[in-house]
Amino acid sequence: MGKSRLCSEESRLDALRRYRILDTTPEEAFDDLVHLAALVCRAPISLLSLVDQARQWFKAKEGIEESELPRESAFCAHAILGTDVLVVPDTHGDARFQTNPLVLGAPGIRFYAGAPLVTPEGYGLGTLCVIDRVPRSISPEEIRALRALAREVMVHLEHRRILLEVTECASELEAFSSTVAHDLRAPLRAMRGIGEIVREDYSGRPLGTEGVALLDRMTDAAGRMDALIEGLLAYSRVSRQEMILEPVALGPLLDRVLEDLGPDLASRQASVEVSSDLPVVRAHRLMLGQALINLVSNGVKFVAPGTAPRVTVSATRAKGKAILAVVDNGIGIAPELQERLFRPFSRLPGADAAFPGTGFGLAIVRKAVERMGGRVGVESAPGQGSRFWVELPLASGA
Ligand code: ADP
Repeated sequence: MGKSRLCSEESRLDALRRYRILDTTPEEAFDDLVHLAALVCRAPISLLSLVDQARQWFKAKEGIEESELPRESAFCAHAILGTDVLVVPDTHGDARFQTNPLVLGAPGIRFYAGAPLVTPEGYGLGTLCVIDRVPRSISPEEIRALRALAREVMVHLEHRRILLEVTECASELEAFSSTVAHDLRAPLRAMRGIGEIVREDYSGRPLGTEGVALLDRMTDAAGRMDALIEGLLAYSRVSRQEMILEPVALGPLLDRVLEDLGPDLASRQASVEVSSDLPVVRAHRLMLGQALINLVSNGVKFVAPGTAPRVTVSATRAKGKAILAVVDNGIGIAPELQERLFRPFSRLPGADAAFPGTGFGLAIVRKAVERMGGRVGVESAPGQGSRFWVELPLASGA
């Protein structure tokens, strides 16, 4: 519980955003709990208040009209700093609230009792509170009931969050399975078509060079299907892999990446320059290594014919995060195509002939980095090269 007091405001706001509750419409379960709080504590005003960056926003309320108030005047912002119910029997006798606009003006708060809404990780999101316009006391039983109702609010918030995630997962899975089916069918159809041609045209005849060429195409299609399934399995491994994060020094990790890519870099006569000043991040070593292999190998692969690939890897640090950038001198990517390249099976139109691949590399990069709590993105324009970036938390103390 006491943990929330140690966490930064930024992480607390991140936690609040994960519940995706701000500015949503009223929900009966929360309205009921607010009503019960008012009833049990015999108070004319009761609020389920969430403390956002600059405001407190009310998911449910009784006894006031406003749907939000500025954070400066929020009693709840004080209440979330503690671990238990904050009781202010008379605001006029409390230096923290005497000059508060909600005390001096409408609704004229004299009495306040707020139970913090604390997440399982210890972040204080807001409060379930009761307010009166006269100074008064609150009995231990009422405090106990308010505490219990606040816990009940938290249980509902948690269920709501899980339900949202499950629904999203289900629709993602649906979209994913139809892409998988579509993309795996293409080589399968080719194989079937070629099989039928060979049977019809060559039964009882020697295959000859043309027949053998058809069989080669069939083998290629089978190879392509194998590569697609391999990519699919790699992607699903990244999705399932247990995510134990540890401090990972990017310098030595990139040495390993370049060692692994050695033969590929040599055959492409590629130069890769790595900054000597790379930070230590919090990450999953193997997965981050795999993600960097994908980014660097793309950087040297997608270049115009006749261009010697040049890739630079460098990093910046800001606000506890590191941004690692992989910059290439390749063919670049049109802005409207950039976002979809991070999806499984996704390749740029026309990429197949010049640059063989399966379209799983960037999907694996995104999945891996997001599961580590980071973000990825790209800045690029056709003919201008690309800058792929990965943002990860710096290892503490780094
Ligand atoms: P694959 O490399 O197997 O095609 P990726 O998911 O790694 O799969 O990349 C998807 C597509 O994104 C590629 O087919 C290519 O069109 C584009 N792409 C990826 N990296 C780059 C890059 N550095 N420069 C230009 N295009 C890129």
